[in-house]
Amino acid sequence: MIIRVLMLIPDIIIAIDGYSSTGKSSFAKMIAKEFSFLYLDSGALYRGVTLFAIENGYISDDNTINVPELAAALEYVDLKFGEGGTCIGDRCIEQEIRSMAVAGKVSPIATVAEVRAFVDRKLREFGKAKRVVMDGRDIGTTVFPHAELKIFMTADPLIRARRRADEMAAKGMEANIEDVLKNLQERDYIDSHREVSPLTQAEDAIVLDNSHMTMDEQIVWVKEVIKERFGL
Ligand code: C5P
Repeated sequence: MIIRVLMLIPDIIIAIDGYSSTGKSSFAKMIAKEFSFLYLDSGALYRGVTLFAIENGYISDDNTINVPELAAALEYVDLKFGEGGTCIGDRCIEQEIRSMAVAGKVSPIATVAEVRAFVDRKLREFGKAKRVVMDGRDIGTTVFPHAELKIFMTADPLIRARRRADEMAAKGMEANIEDVLKNLQERDYIDSHREVSPLTQAEDAIVLDNSHMTMDEQIVWVKEVIKERFGL
């Protein structure tokens, strides 16, 4: 009989930020499972706003955004996390928000201050629970600057593109590795250079480069970090 020893960690917020496709959400989900935390995917909300903007004509083919109209419309959008993932009202949009069509427009949408304010409001509301692990680009710097543990993830771009392409192929979605690489480099650039809450490593974040690490190794790593940080 195998007895799993649970590591009891205090009620904290864990903020995981980093570059696109570094495996932040898989890592955050594992942490949530391991420590019985609530997992929140902030990128899914930016993707949800993007899908909404595409479907309602607030962003053009050349990524020009009708900011005043989008901002006004967002007031009435019931974007949330439901049973099956991200939803707008009763409609589950989890699959659509992972498409390349959304990936190609999400970073421009995420530069809009009004969109960021809308998403931040939701994230802070969800994060009230504590015992939360949230991943994104600005969680440790803007959304929860007082998070007790901040991790900044990075990995070799080609390894990231390969992982993301494999993940998409496994879901039956079309994925050309060159397109995926180009998309994640474009997103990294826009995310790091935008005016509002750019992607940047928080001063008190610990870096995790998982280019050559398995998920199990990353979990061992985070357990060590937690033990040391909280004297467990
Ligand atoms: O995490 P994910 O790749 O799904 O995020 C999609 C996009 O949403 C990112 O490329 C980024 O432009 C935006 N994002 C953000 N701030 C966050 C999370 C995501 O700007 N906290």
